[in-house]
Amino acid sequence: MVQTSSTASPVYQNFIGGQWRPSHSGETFASTNPAHTQEVIGHYQLSDATDLEAAVEAAVKAQRGWAATPAPVRGDILLRTALLLEQRHDELSNLMTREMGKILRETRGDVQTAIDVAKFVAGEGRRAEGETVPSALPDKFCLTIRQPMGIVGIITPWNFPLAIPAWKTFPALLAGNAVILKPASDTPLLTLKLAEILQEAGLPDGVFNVITGSGGTLGDALVSHKKINMISLTGSNEVGRRVAELCGRDLRRCALELGGKNAVIIMDDADLDLAANNITLGAFGTTGQRCTATSRVIVHRAAYNQLVDRLVAAAERLRVGDGLDAQTEVGPLVNRGRVKAVDAYTQIGKQEGARLLTGGATLTQDSYQEGAFYQPTIFGDVSPDMRIAQEEVFGPFLSLIPVDSYEQAISVANSTEYGLSTGIFTEDARLAFRAMRDIESGLVYINAGTTGSEIHLPFGGMKGSGNGHRELGPDSVNEFCELKSVFISY
Ligand code: NAD
Repeated sequence: MVQTSSTASPVYQNFIGGQWRPSHSGETFASTNPAHTQEVIGHYQLSDATDLEAAVEAAVKAQRGWAATPAPVRGDILLRTALLLEQRHDELSNLMTREMGKILRETRGDVQTAIDVAKFVAGEGRRAEGETVPSALPDKFCLTIRQPMGIVGIITPWNFPLAIPAWKTFPALLAGNAVILKPASDTPLLTLKLAEILQEAGLPDGVFNVITGSGGTLGDALVSHKKINMISLTGSNEVGRRVAELCGRDLRRCALELGGKNAVIIMDDADLDLAANNITLGAFGTTGQRCTATSRVIVHRAAYNQLVDRLVAAAERLRVGDGLDAQTEVGPLVNRGRVKAVDAYTQIGKQEGARLLTGGATLTQDSYQEGAFYQPTIFGDVSPDMRIAQEEVFGPFLSLIPVDSYEQAISVANSTEYGLSTGIFTEDARLAFRAMRDIESGLVYINAGTTGSEIHLPFGGMKGSGNGHRELGPDSVNEFCELKSVFISY
């Protein structure tokens, strides 16, 4: 997969039709280590429409044969993939920390998710079921069958460089589709490693293809290509809307997993130590760069001061640094552009009249100068209509919103355009059940923070956090299938 080059860092090629190929233009772009931004991790192909055409051709050629391969055999390839990922767990986690920045414990979790999903989906190969249904008429028999969509285009973000490509690709492959994947430009390496591993596991050439390049040009071309039957995107709200619009023109299926402005509600009877631990992890884990990151705390006024003390103390104790260092609890942001974007929200928060409780600046010591670091930041006295309470910041940034009742808390929680993940801390079982019903989000946590999903449960958002599709869990394969109803007379 590595092309020889005069530069010190490796040049990676596209993976098309089972072969490593340079792009048509011959141009490349680089990814860097966010903890030491001078360090280039890899150079990748700046692909264009010609490269996309080659990938589509390879996928079309391979897809029928793959669909004709029995589903349990397709599943067996995914099981071998899981074993190979396990063997390379340390290497892949290390590479991911160097390219994306999150701490080793988190990148190990990212790789583990890919392993678990491969095992789960492999088993679905023996359960690729339709239904038999009684007919309303005599001497008739009805059944449903599931068939692959054909060619699936997958577009992924940088914050889960292996887990998200894996949890989209494995069910798509199990269903009998061929896949063309475009990873985010900050972190293409793990997807190319996945291609290498799938090939070693026995996946036929052309069934999985990876092309790297710019979201704007290559992404648009991929989303608009007439031979691609479905698009699955995880990314920002803005890009999701663009992709939905392009897919809508051709009535192409598109599954969108987008941003969040996730809230935790703290009632006056909550266990505040438990809540503070979970909020700290949810807000500052992965440096706040999770779609499910806790970014709002909606707290009953009776618990406000006590919670503020705990959260500020916990944020100030966090060790920020290079994710490869075992002592580090919060790594860098993915690049310096993200540092600027988060700092812009600090300025907005101040202008809006919220109270900066801690953080709100880049780190100034020498050891941080080379990296994309930002202090864990908490604003208090935030009102629900402020921009810092409404917009996704995607960094180590938390807004505390005081409220007076459960009803007000729910109304504030539901007041953003998003609906991905929401938690509530209360000892009152009645309130917990009401919250399950009242919260407008795809994931609801009772006495737990907003992060930490399980791979055998459906994952996805309501409202602006997606378009109603669900990933992971038992239906993940069906998302990549056409459903046919068959009527038989006898
Ligand atoms: P992004 O939207 O900038 O990019 C996502 C992907 O889309 C990248 O591969 C990018 O190159 C590509 N892209 C950009 N413009 C495109 C276009 N016009 N057409 C097609 N593709 C295009 O997002 P990001 O910065 O990589 O990731 C962060 C965002 O992803 C956050 O908003 C976060 O909440 C969201 N996210 C959501 C989930 C979820 O499951 N809901 C999970 C992780 C991240």
